[in-house]
Amino acid sequence: MKTAIWWVRRDLRVEDNPALKAALEVSAEVVPLFIADEGSMRLDAPKRIAFLWNGLRALDGELRKRGSRLIVRSGRPEEVLPAVLAESGAQAVFAEEDYSPYARARDLKVGDTLPLRLSVGLTAQHPVAVVKNDGAPYTVFTPFSKAWKALPQSSPAGLLANTRIHTPQGLFSEPIAAGAEVPGFPAGEEEARRRLEQFLAQKVRDYHDGRNQLDEEGTSRLSPYFRFGMLSARLAAAKMSESARKAASKGAETWLNELIWREFYQAILYHFPGVLKQAFNPALREIAWRDAPADLAAWKAGLTGYPVVDASMRQLAATGWMHNRGRMIAASFLVKDLLINWQEGETWFMHSLIDGDPASNNGGWQWTAGVGTDAAPYFRVFNPVLQGKKFDPRGDFVRAWVPELGRVPEKYIHEPWLMNLQEQSAAGCRVGRDYPAPLVDHSAARERTLEAFRASRLRW
Ligand code: FAD
Repeated sequence: MKTAIWWVRRDLRVEDNPALKAALEVSAEVVPLFIADEGSMRLDAPKRIAFLWNGLRALDGELRKRGSRLIVRSGRPEEVLPAVLAESGAQAVFAEEDYSPYARARDLKVGDTLPLRLSVGLTAQHPVAVVKNDGAPYTVFTPFSKAWKALPQSSPAGLLANTRIHTPQGLFSEPIAAGAEVPGFPAGEEEARRRLEQFLAQKVRDYHDGRNQLDEEGTSRLSPYFRFGMLSARLAAAKMSESARKAASKGAETWLNELIWREFYQAILYHFPGVLKQAFNPALREIAWRDAPADLAAWKAGLTGYPVVDASMRQLAATGWMHNRGRMIAASFLVKDLLINWQEGETWFMHSLIDGDPASNNGGWQWTAGVGTDAAPYFRVFNPVLQGKKFDPRGDFVRAWVPELGRVPEKYIHEPWLMNLQEQSAAGCRVGRDYPAPLVDHSAARERTLEAFRASRLRW
């Protein structure tokens, strides 16, 4: 074949890219094409879209090093693709399979009339490869992960360092928008590889214990890179397995397990697309949620009066990223303390996160709410004070994000309302004036929530 299109969607990398590899194998020329389609680019997620544009610029740079470039067009794929096929004389379109209902509907429609060839690359294993003996999907993580680990791991395709990519001249491209800077997360596959190497060299050893500490940078912060495929999951999994084998590293094994959670939630979304609309557990679809817009707004703004919740929510607002422990604590607070529908939280996270991914985000919310597959039991309710004391023992994380509490002594940092007036004055923080009093009493809120969950089960 003379020419093929490599349709870039959420695989913004040249290294270990099965779709690009497939295109290069069968055609002399490849047209790397990104379609800014209305469905996904108008998303109400400014930070993530900025990160995406920065990633597209980085990808264009990588392609130019290899003699090619990225073509960007706006419009609907079913209109843009035929136009570019005609202009370039390409005979096929290669892309990485994506598992969200939106993506699958889009690809079905495109594949109906155009020669679309999909490759597996979003996950290290395709969701249909990790199923029970009878072909049914797993809905519990541990057996899923065992089956996942038992599958042969295909080796990564390697870096296309010296490969020239020939791209026809003269094709029109819209300018690649310069997204606003996303502090802490420079986009691109080079940065993703650097992070992975650095994590392997420095942090993976302590990951098993360090990953839960809010006051340490103990995790890889690679999630935004996985979100847009700036790093191949297969490559990361292969490197981590190798490290686990070589150094008998518990940290590497734990990290691989987290990456398998990502594979698990992608598989859940693939097999059960309905989770984006309702709880996986049918017994917990009838919960009488509170309609409490002021409480929801306080949660979004990091003004609940519970320091570790507020610090986490402000970290999210400021950076577009939140520590996993913070996500669990903040999500649990919305659902179990405020009795607000987990879907409100899911939507807010999708708006705010640069790694916002429909599968992982939905999975995380359903897990925390206790309504999903293999979820935390609904009656297990995080205590935000104890969580704070355990995972931010000195209060450094809280002080970093909630400056009003900067001078509050360690003893009170997770429950500032216990300070007497004199102590509040000494700390320069009057509770109820400089920092909110707790929005709810945790014990009373817990009872209210358990009652609402029980009632839904009874109705079912
Ligand atoms: P590391 O600890 O270094 O883990 C390595 C990689 O494993 C991550 O980059 C990620 O790809 C994957 N991973 C780790 N934990 C999980 C998990 N629990 N579920 C799925 N994958 C995981 N992750 C997202 O990528 N996008 C989301 O939109 C998202 N929303 C979440 C919402 C809630 C309510 C919760 C509780 C979790 C959510 N997560 C989400 C999972 C997790 O919090 C992040 O993946 C993690 O914090 C990213 O930081 P890291 O890259 O430093 O992770």
